[in-house]
Amino acid sequence: MASTKIYDYIERIAELQRADSRRCTAEFGLQPVQLEVLHYLSICNQFSDTAKALTEYLGQTKGSVSQTLKVLENKGYLCKVADLSDGRITHLQVTESARQLLQKAIPSPLFNVACKGLTEQKNIQIESSLKELLEALLGSNNMKTFGVCSSCRYNTHKGGSEYYCELLNTPLQHSAEQLICIEHQLPT
Ligand code: SF4
Repeated sequence: MASTKIYDYIERIAELQRADSRRCTAEFGLQPVQLEVLHYLSICNQFSDTAKALTEYLGQTKGSVSQTLKVLENKGYLCKVADLSDGRITHLQVTESARQLLQKAIPSPLFNVACKGLTEQKNIQIESSLKELLEALLGSNNMKTFGVCSSCRYNTHKGGSEYYCELLNTPLQHSAEQLICIEHQLPT
């Protein structure tokens, strides 16, 4: 069955990736999940940089996410910033030293070497197939997509270079276009 073969490949890739990630994060005195948290926070938009969104993205418990955040804060890799208009919301921001670390650790060395060995066309082809598989997986399980504004049903073009989010009632910043969002939904 095709799905079993795909599952076997994904599982093997994930194992190799986990081992490489463990090696790489140990160098920086971090656990793989701590790197994952920093990575998420470095690629999400301002509506998604909260402990709640992070918990949903990782599929972990509130308690374990909160422990991870504490460690990262103590190591100086992230800071908490209160929302300017709603004091109940706390944003989690990665620090400059976390960004430098992420540049070295993501993608992991093994992954980088492997992708560089493939042609650009092959890379594009694999990316597109994996995207399709991820969307199918999320869709069939009714899970949040965590996609970017350009592929979201709530993104409306207002003319020129202006875009507006119909869900959150706010203009969209060009600089945030490629950041992932907890409210993202694919067009129907
Ligand atoms: S357009 Fe979609 S992805 Fe972008 S901010 Fe709005 S809900 Fe999030």
